[in-house]
Amino acid sequence: MIDPASCTSRLMMSIRKNVSIRSDGRRLTQPLSKRHNAIPVLGVDGAFSAVRQSMQLKIGNFQYDESYLAHGYKELTIPPGPDGSWRMEKNALHIWPRKSFMMIALPNPDGSFTCTLFWEFEGPRSFATMKSHEDVRRFFEEEFPDAVPLMPTLLEDFRENPTGSLVTIRCAPWYYRDKVCLVGDAAHAVVPFYGQGMNAAFEDCVVLDECLEEFPENRDRAFAEYFRRRKENADALADLAIGNFIEMRDKTASKTFRAKKKLDHALEAALPGIYLPLYTMVTFTRMPYAKAAKRAQIQDALVYASLLLIAAILVTAMLWLIAT
Ligand SMILES: Cc1cc2nc3c(=O)[nH]c(=O)nc-3n(C[C@H](O)[C@H](O)[C@H](O)COP(=O)(O)OP(=O)(O)OC[C@H]3O[C@@H](n4cnc5c(N)ncnc54)[C@H](O)[C@@H]3O)c2cc1C
Repeated sequence: MIDPASCTSRLMMSIRKNVSIRSDGRRLTQPLSKRHNAIPVLGVDGAFSAVRQSMQLKIGNFQYDESYLAHGYKELTIPPGPDGSWRMEKNALHIWPRKSFMMIALPNPDGSFTCTLFWEFEGPRSFATMKSHEDVRRFFEEEFPDAVPLMPTLLEDFRENPTGSLVTIRCAPWYYRDKVCLVGDAAHAVVPFYGQGMNAAFEDCVVLDECLEEFPENRDRAFAEYFRRRKENADALADLAIGNFIEMRDKTASKTFRAKKKLDHALEAALPGIYLPLYTMVTFTRMPYAKAAKRAQIQDALVYASLLLIAAILVTAMLWLIAT
């Protein structure tokens, strides 16, 4: 792993002492190269990276795309039970799928759950229309009646907790000569529905470290190689994360979807190491995201083709039996 003492502290030093940032924290006022030529800067300053904004100013053909979901999110709490234990199954991701929106709950070590409501910002029924405690109470009782008794601070949490936005950021390149390199959300913010944003940032660190080791005398090349190895995977994760939002909010309640998941698990058990569901590849292996997505597409095509073939054989056999 990259030594934080040698890299992150340099970044913090560069940001705090050598590079001016506007009071809104979102923009460097001077190009990096004019201020500090010798020390490379690692931009690990998150989705709204000031370092990346400086690169936008410096690099003529810098590609940048930021897209927001129409949905925002609000965090709410289910506190622990009276004996300090979890009030729902703790070894699970709880999902209340409601087609165009959803709520999820994840267990915390202290016996509580953090619930997150993902909902449209605007619209006839949306965050925008929640004007009073009564609106909020009615909405939750209609949509999540089983959760309401577990959420004693629901109304206060809803009023006081901010409504966050969900952004996907793609940019290129992630480096400027041998001087600046972006890592984590600064290079590729993704929506949180695959739970991989932080992991992707750690993977960046591993790959950057490998590249710096491979090209110890040529930092420019190491940065370029790191970008080449990671970019397609970050893009693949961005697509997977948006796809999983639709899957979680819309499809988890569908019988066909559940049947496909059961088939996935059955095939995984029957063909260990050969058939791997997409979620398993992304979450429990170090397979690069782009490779996992491609492999899942091929697996799905084979499974659907096999099912069609089996159905065709059965129909042919039945017709043959009827005819004879
Ligand atoms: C609702 C939600 C749920 C998520 N759930 C998951 C999950 O379950 N699993 C998962 O892996 N990921 C999850 N993520 C994504 C994860 O939080 C990010 O991918 C991860 O934090 C990225 O790490 P980072 O270090 O690149 O950026 P950040 O964690 O954003 O860190 C950036 C740091 O830079 C600092 N900074 C910013 N600007 C400046 C400046 N100008 N000067 C100095 N410092 C600055 C910030 O204060 C911050 O400390 C979720 C994200 C959201 C929004």
